[in-house]
This record gives sequence, structure tokens and C-alpha cells, in this order.
Amino acid sequence: MSKQNRLFETEPEPWRLDDQDDWLAARVVFAQAPFGPYDYQIPAEFQRQVCPGVRLTVPLGRGNRFRQAYCVDVIGPFHAQASTVNPQRLKPLASVVDERPIINGPLLELAKWISDYYVCPLGNVIETVVPPGIRDGSGTREMLFLALAEGVSEQLPKLALPPKQRAILEALAAGGSDWTPRELADTVGCTQGPITTLRKKGLVISSSRRVRSVSHVIPREEKEQNLILNTDQQRALHSINEVVDRGEYQGFLMHGITGSGKTEVYIRAIQKAVEFGRQAIVLVPEISLTPQTRQRFRARFDQVAVLHSHLTAAQRAWHWNEIVNGNVQVIIGARSAIFAPAPNLGLIVLDEEHDGSFKQDKAPRYHAREVAVWRARQAKIPIILGSATPALDSWHRAQTGEFKLLSMPSRVLNLPLPDVATIDLRVDFGNRKSRGAISQKLRQEIRSAINQGGQVILLLNRRGFATRIQCPGCGHVEYCPDCSIPMTHHRDGSKAVCHYCDFQMPEPQSCSECGYAAIRFAGIGTQKLEQEVQAIFPDIPCMRMDTDTMRKPGSHELALSRFREGEIKILLGTQMIAKGLDFPNVTLVGVVNADTALHFPDFRASERTFGLVTQVAGRSGRGPKGGRVLVQTFSPDNPAIIAAKSHDYLGFAQGELPSRQEFGYPPFGLLARIVIRSESQEKAKQFSEHIADVIQQVAEELEKKIIVLGPAPAPVEKLRGKYRFHVLIRSGPDCHLQPVIQRASARIQTSENVQWIVDIDPMDML
Ligand code: ADP
Ligand code: ZN
Repeated sequence: MSKQNRLFETEPEPWRLDDQDDWLAARVVFAQAPFGPYDYQIPAEFQRQVCPGVRLTVPLGRGNRFRQAYCVDVIGPFHAQASTVNPQRLKPLASVVDERPIINGPLLELAKWISDYYVCPLGNVIETVVPPGIRDGSGTREMLFLALAEGVSEQLPKLALPPKQRAILEALAAGGSDWTPRELADTVGCTQGPITTLRKKGLVISSSRRVRSVSHVIPREEKEQNLILNTDQQRALHSINEVVDRGEYQGFLMHGITGSGKTEVYIRAIQKAVEFGRQAIVLVPEISLTPQTRQRFRARFDQVAVLHSHLTAAQRAWHWNEIVNGNVQVIIGARSAIFAPAPNLGLIVLDEEHDGSFKQDKAPRYHAREVAVWRARQAKIPIILGSATPALDSWHRAQTGEFKLLSMPSRVLNLPLPDVATIDLRVDFGNRKSRGAISQKLRQEIRSAINQGGQVILLLNRRGFATRIQCPGCGHVEYCPDCSIPMTHHRDGSKAVCHYCDFQMPEPQSCSECGYAAIRFAGIGTQKLEQEVQAIFPDIPCMRMDTDTMRKPGSHELALSRFREGEIKILLGTQMIAKGLDFPNVTLVGVVNADTALHFPDFRASERTFGLVTQVAGRSGRGPKGGRVLVQTFSPDNPAIIAAKSHDYLGFAQGELPSRQEFGYPPFGLLARIVIRSESQEKAKQFSEHIADVIQQVAEELEKKIIVLGPAPAPVEKLRGKYRFHVLIRSGPDCHLQPVIQRASARIQTSENVQWIVDIDPMDML
């Protein structure tokens, strides 16, 4: 006898339910305050329909105003949580909104984890996980469907009816369900008249249902053959495949230098998962969702969904449904694609895993890498984090054995890494008369690269024309009236713009402080660089790529294809051009100023500088012509610049990590940041002191060893008209900060006209 059967035999008598024990409660949360959770009684008539993940309408507050809520748990007398419910005192819910859950069980669990970890209300998280198009039914419409009433098909031969009406009934009897009135009329060749008559007689019944009316099918690409993997690629793939075979969780950190063929390994690992009938999610930074990326995956897989920010809500909802129904093999998208409801996920890939865009800068302030790792654990599947410059956090996790390290230390086809040289701007500045951004040496190299038929990429991570508007008379710098940020001069439209709040004003003709008429525009942005390049090389077609020129949907793609075709010879721009681009004809990369982010008050400033310079350097020399890189800097001796110069990630990590450890910064400690803002500087200050006190108090109660830094004015002291203070909370790697913040939040007395946010594992320290 099987084990299963014996189990049933020894099962105790069914519970006998007393009437008063027979209750069911729905635990719900709201997307806006008050967030809940609250419990509601489920009346008998709804008990079949209510399950976690459906929306309910429930009465709220004294006035019993109806509001929509998400059901996150169903609790009964024998449920583990039963003791937390008082069934006698519950209000009944009013109605059930969805026939089926709009979020499945595993995704709801994921949402609960995000809510706990990032200290963000669950309702708020659910609204991030489920796209708006699914919530409001975008791209669907209500349709009427007809069917025979019960028993009509048996009576049909005996009924006395006019011929059209009989034909209609016969069509319905023969043709199954789901006839719309229009289809029926077309088939029978009649008007709506006889159909209406039959409905009135009760012989035909109707029901309405929402059906999808928008689709977003993407044409297939011509299929491409797999490449022959080199030894490093094979080794990496083998390690991953082993885990896919075993059906286990494992995090992989794939440290592969630029051009080492990481994407090819992802593709092959995904092919394996797909062969098992599973799906894969590939997360990339939004800016890397180029046609090149899409094409590469479409050429290898039959069903690829690309989720990018230019999709309409209805299109997104269509993809979501296709994914739910298992019609998609590979889902490629930015951050939020980690919530794709793949029914049988087999693999997750995060490409460029160090990229800052994986962290959301509004609530819930989740990092897609952490969410992805959690999801991979939940689904018992491997996750690959790939980068040429891994985040030090990830690197540390590979060192401690949490992730398995896969190294791909050389470029495919044994192409060499480009040679990198620095140009010391301090020396260069003294030597030349011109005040331009491009040194003599860089100028010569650009000319010779172009003469030899190559192409050039110039990086300057600062948009606008001049970065400061300063009076040479009194030294006054024009600041945004709403933010403590210097205004940036934009030549197109002759305006001054704040890069934080987009406040704009006409460019000043004289100093607003002393009235001096010859105001100067100092510092160089991409606009001014473009002008300079055009002046030095009037014969060479050049293009600027930054958020100002790439506002229109599709403009980024168009620009890249013009560069690929060779129509454009010099591509200059912000970090947008540093990432993931694979143009074999680029033989020179120039970094116009490597120091733009080096001196930010942020413990990751060096890491970002190293990453950016290394990434952009990796765009050079990807073809047979080889390539080189020139880095202009005022700090050639800075360790980040020195390491970038020799493509030395390991050296950089070894130099940087000890100083992180010394100060207890991530990855050696945990960090949370609370930002407080108010129109009144005094209020913001007082409130941040209150928060710091409460947190200190709670930490003592809970006996948690934490360090509260601040409150202090945030580095950007004023933003969009509000004063900002921040409190940093730090702890050792094993002490979870969340319980402290959670309990403190409940105790912090909200104050009028003061807002505050919690950021766990903050990336933005400004
Ligand atoms: P990464 O993502 O590491 O920067 P890619 O995967 O983009 O590198 O690969 C760089 C280039 O090398 C691409 O054009 C790719 O088609 C090519 N490539 C990758 N693997 C191989 C291989 N085994 N043999 C030949 N070419 C390859
Ligand atoms: Zn501003």
C-alpha cells in the first residue's frame, strides 16, 4: 500500500464545526494610506471566490466608505494566523472585483518580502508588481456572448418558429459557445431583430465578459546559428548548466571583461532552460534595451517579450498575459521585468549588474538584483549576475562564497584589450593657450583614428553647455532658486536649467549679485563639447547623445544605427554611450574628464568612476583594427583612474574594499538612509532630530547594535523648494535594521508639512 493511502487511513475524524467556529476572514491591504492590513469577514456567498491576489471592495472607517483592497490572505479557524483574528468583530466585505487573482501566489510572496525588507507598505508594493494595464483592464473591452437557454436544444425540433429564428437557434445549438451577436447575425444572414426577439422569449441567454482587444505581436527575426564557444565560455556555461540540471538555487557572478562574450553564455544557458519548457528573465539597464540586444535574442528564440518604457499600458498588459499563459520563452526588460509572471521560471540573468538603474528611486525603493536573488531562491533556479565591473557588494559576496565566481578574463577571438593612456590636464592646461575641453594629444589621436577609417567615442558625463554660470567680478555662482544646485547653461534656447528640478530661466546677461555685465559660463557640458568638436573638425560628422537630444521615443535607436552605418564618425555624450555598445569599428575612446563624479560626497564615488571609465574604455578595439583609449584627468594618481588604466578590476577591488571595511560601509555593514524634507528648514531639522532619537531608543529596546549618523543637511540641501536633512543608520552585516525602522516608524509622530522616506541599501547619497 502506498504511503499516501496509509496517510488517509490514519487521518482523524473530520472536524465538527460549531457554528461559531465556522468563519472565514480576508486579510486585505490598500494601495494608499491607511495601508492596513485589515481583516474582513467573508460572507458565505463569496467564500468560493475570495482567495489571495483578488481585489475586494470593503467598507472602511466610521463612515464605511467603500474602497478597493487587495486580498493577501484568507484566514479560517484552523489557519496558523487564526489567533490574530477576532471573527466576532469583523465587518463583512462588500464585493469581489476579480474572477481570478491578478497576482499569483509566488509573486505575492515576493511582494511580501519586498514590503518587509524595504519597509514599504504591501499595497504599495503590489501596485509596483502588477502593471497598471492589468489593474484597470487596459486593452480589453466588455463583450456580450450568446448561448441557448437550458433545455432549448432538446425542445428545438418541436418549437414553432419563423425560419430566421429557427436558423439562429440551430446555429447556436451546433456551434458551441461564445457567439457574439454580430457573428451570429453574419452567419445566419439576418439582422439583430430576430436575435433580440429570441432573447426576450428567454430562448437565448447572454452574458458579458471582458476580452483582450490589443495585441503587440512582434515579427520574428531570421534565425541565427549558435557560435562556437571558447574555453572560458564553455567552462562558465558548464557550471551554470549543472545547476539548471539539478534544479537548485545558485547565484553566479560572471566577471567577464568587456567583449568577453558574456551574452553568448547567457543565451546558451537560457536555451537549456527553454528546452526544459521553462522561461527566463533577462534584466538589462533601460538604456541597453537597444534594437541590437532585442535582435540578438530574437534571432535565437521563438518567443521573446521585450518590456521597455515606451510600451503603452495596454501593450504591457498584453505581454503580461502572454507571459502568464506560458507563451513567452524569454522576457527581456529593465528593472521591473523582474516581476514578469512567468509560470515556470528556469533562469534569471542580470546583465551589467553593477548598473545604478536597477535601484528604483521611488517607493518601493527596491534593488532589482536583490529581488532577483530572492526570486531565484524561491523558484530554486540559478541566477547569473554579469559585469565587467561588478558592484563591490556582489564581488564581496563572491569572495565569501555566497555567489559562485565565473571568470572570463579575455576577449573573444583573443582580441586584445585597448591600450589606455591618461592625459594630465594640470600639465596640459598650463601648456596651451586655448581653454577648450580637448587636449592637443586627444585632438591628434581623433584625427588619426578617423584618417585610418575608424570611429571615435567621446565621453563627458555632464550635459548642458556650461556647467556653472559664474561672475568673474564677484565670483557669484547662479543657483537654482529651488534647489541647492548650480544652474547649467544650455545654449539651445539660451537658457539656464536646473538639472534636478528642470527649473528654467533665460540666460542671465549680468550678475544677479553685483550687476557685472560680462558674466562667464564655466565648466564644460556635452553641448559645449559638441560645439568644440565641430569647430576643430568641421569636416567630420559628429553627433551628441544625452537626455536632451534623446527625448523622443526611438531617437536613441536611430542615433545608434547611424553610428553603426558609419554615417556618423564621432559619437559624443554622457554615460549613455558607455554601456554595452558593440561597434567593431570604434578604434578610439576619449574620456574628456574622468573626474566629474570622483569628488562627490558619496562612498561609492571611486567605484562609479572606475566603472564608468572601464566600461567606456571597453567600447574601443572590438574589431580587427584594434583600438586605444585616452583618459583626460586632473587626478592621474587617483587609484580608481590608475586601476581603470590597466583594466585592473581586481586591483581596484583590493584597494577599495579595506577602506569600506574600515568605515563599516557596505558590503561590510548594512546601511539605511532616511531623508526628511520640508519647506521650512527649521521643521525639517527638528523632525529629523526626532526621527534620530526614536531610532536610537528603539534600537536600545531591541538590543540592536546600530550607529545613527546625523541628522545632517543632505549634500543637496534644497531640492524643488524643500529643505532636506538625512539620517544614516549603519549596522554590522548580521544585524537587520528593518525591525528597528519598522517599529520606529509606528512611533514617529507625523508632523504637518514634513515628508520623510526610508531608503534601505541606498545608492543615492545626495
Ligand atoms: P560582452 O557581453 O561580454 O561584452 P558580447 O557577448 O557582446 O560580449 O560579445 C562580443 C562580441 O563577440 C559579439 O559580437 C559576439 O557576437 C562575439 N562573440 C561572442 N562569443 C563568441 C565566440 N565564441 N566566437 C566568436 N565570436 C563571439
Ligand atoms: Zn532646481
